[in-house]
Amino acid sequence: MTTALNVEQTRDMLCFVAHRMVEHKEYLGELDRAIGDGDHGIGMSIGFLAALEKLETATFTTVNDLFKTTGMQMLSSMGGASGVIFGSMFLGGVKGLQPSAELTTPLLATIIAGSLTAITTRGGALVGDKTMVDALEPASSALSQAAREGLDLEHALAAAEVAASAGVESTKGLIAKYGRAKSLGDRALGHPDPGAVSVQLIFQSMRMWLGAVQHETTGQPGESKDPAEGRQAS
Ligand code: ADP
Ligand code: MG
Repeated sequence: MTTALNVEQTRDMLCFVAHRMVEHKEYLGELDRAIGDGDHGIGMSIGFLAALEKLETATFTTVNDLFKTTGMQMLSSMGGASGVIFGSMFLGGVKGLQPSAELTTPLLATIIAGSLTAITTRGGALVGDKTMVDALEPASSALSQAAREGLDLEHALAAAEVAASAGVESTKGLIAKYGRAKSLGDRALGHPDPGAVSVQLIFQSMRMWLGAVQHETTGQPGESKDPAEGRQAS
């Protein structure tokens, strides 16, 4: 059971997320080609590579700084609307928060709730508009509920991932009100929103990293951590 990550572990987790997003460049590009301009994978890859440059080399003393630096690097390298949106996913949530040397479920829930507020305030999109908000809002609710229930980080992230996946599914039935898919009207039906898929991948990657750490500490390397397969007794 992982109740708290220290700064070094949080850095490793964010690096894992970044590498995994870069690995999904082609896939995210394909999704955006279907209903947008095809650059989402390239954009996310540029943003996360820029984040990695700092995450892997700079010295950090707080979790806040790690999220802030990740967001700043994305914001400044990606440019455009999605740079602001995905930069805010990391940057917006730690604004004004007291510095912490540990990442816990309640802190992650607070960070993601702040991200959601920052993104909806800036971008104007709400649930149902076929954007990444359709995945981020349910993930944020799931994290808040996990915090209230006292869940450890791995189970909290598993819940966030499940909620984000359901959000991605919901975007297939929606017509876009924001972004480039807007001009497609109902031709975007049946396709998931690429930004929502990115949000799902981000939470999935965090959950995967925690699962791997858990295996190292419990010595159960073969244990499945796929939430779809049900919770393992620990
Ligand atoms: P661009 O739209 O400039 O080509 P990307 O392709 O990288 O940028 O990102 C597209 C994603 O950005 C969409 O799939 C959607 O999830 C997200 N998005 C677009 N506009 C908004 C908005 N106003 N609020 C939240 N997310 C948005
Ligand atoms: Mg695009």
